[in-house]
Amino acid sequence: MHITIIGGGYVGLVSGACFAEFGTEVTIVETDNRRLESLRQGQIPIYEPGLATLVQENVLAGRLNFTHDLHAAVQGTEAVFIAVGTPSRKGDGHADLSYVFGAAKQVARALTDYAVIVTKSTVPVGTGRKIQEIMRDTRPDLEFDVASNPEFLREGSAIGDFMKPDRVIIGAETDRAREVLKKLYRPLYLIEAPIVFTGIETAELTKYASNAFLAMKITFINEVADLAEKVGADVHDIARGIGLDGRIGRKFLHPGPGYGGSCFPKDTLALVRIAQDVGAPMRLVETTVSVNESRKSSMAMRVIAANGGSVYNKTIAVLGLTFKPETDDMRDSPALSIVSRLIGEHAKIRAFDPQGMDQARLMLSDEIVYCDDALHAAAGADILVVITEWNEFRALDPIKLRSVMAGNVIVDLRNIFDPTAMRAAGFRYCDIGRRG
Ligand code: NAD
Repeated sequence: MHITIIGGGYVGLVSGACFAEFGTEVTIVETDNRRLESLRQGQIPIYEPGLATLVQENVLAGRLNFTHDLHAAVQGTEAVFIAVGTPSRKGDGHADLSYVFGAAKQVARALTDYAVIVTKSTVPVGTGRKIQEIMRDTRPDLEFDVASNPEFLREGSAIGDFMKPDRVIIGAETDRAREVLKKLYRPLYLIEAPIVFTGIETAELTKYASNAFLAMKITFINEVADLAEKVGADVHDIARGIGLDGRIGRKFLHPGPGYGGSCFPKDTLALVRIAQDVGAPMRLVETTVSVNESRKSSMAMRVIAANGGSVYNKTIAVLGLTFKPETDDMRDSPALSIVSRLIGEHAKIRAFDPQGMDQARLMLSDEIVYCDDALHAAAGADILVVITEWNEFRALDPIKLRSVMAGNVIVDLRNIFDPTAMRAAGFRYCDIGRRG
């Protein structure tokens, strides 16, 4: 089989490498010249565990290649996956579909034979229909089908998620399209991964409903954590207590500084807009969006309060900048608002993140001092703030940490440290919703 993937970002690259690993010939089309050049030279422009080796092996095996030439890439292809970005449109929060529609038009012009055009990007309900229209208007002579196959991979464990998914959702309307996608996903049938066939609109909405539900779960436990703090309860015990109920489940019940990243913020917002537009408002999701926004901005206040109401001229060590561990992705990371606010309050920031500092340099103030490791960041700091729960931070020795710092305040926004050990080492330790 030969397939084409438009867009070589987190989703395009991971899907492309994994489909190639399944034995399919994959061509990834990428328009960003710098990204394309580094891919061609065997360098992976993003950090995702295991991806570099998987790409390298499949390039060597001749199953995976990269190009800017969409026209050549779609010749003889059975399916074209659109995996370009769908960021929030400035001003109204709707998903910006210009990259998706742009790609669809290019594909329509370039195809010479039947192919299935599959959206892997997260797209609002109705996008598949619009792609059908664009394709028909551009190429009335062309035989094609449109399908929706939303992606559920998580950055940081993307390859495992793709190779052993909880489920695959395929929105397709003809037997021909379903057969192409069944053939492509055959290795997943063999491991009995659930593959759910639906209509196009259902598949599109399933992705948004899934992300919105997870965002609500995070937001719920964050509010429970705030309440637990006020009444002397422990949010971790509560999370365990409710999570052991099979109807609720234990995942996504970790309190923190609010959800961020390249998906949840934009997808919840887009779902709110889609629902409002059709007159079926999703008030739970609307509330989730606004509670999460105010949570992110209130996190800097926690740091300021922990230091007696001011961080003026204080040195703050920030551990972790990415929106979650095991990625270099800084998009919509809570660190962006927390660090900017602290700088606004005239704090001096010494930051360390294992993978995110290159992206952070482009997005945050250049007043920040970027450090070589966690202890280097902590050296001479008055306050230490944990924003992202990278595993290597969990192993920090409290006594050593205390000995390199000038002050003794820790604000742990991910609850990664042992409060007793931190207090024994002489820290004033603040976490989220745990009982002393
Ligand atoms: P990304 O920004 O990392 O990658 C998109 C890539 O597409 C970029 O490299 C860009 O240069 C390229 N591109 C844009 N227009 C193009 C064109 N016409 N031809 C060729 N290349 C083009 O984005 P991403 O994080 O991979 O997300 C892609 C989509 O997948 C989004 O809709 C996102 O919501 C969804 N998604 C993302 C994740 C995730 O964890 N990142 C998970 C599930 C779904």
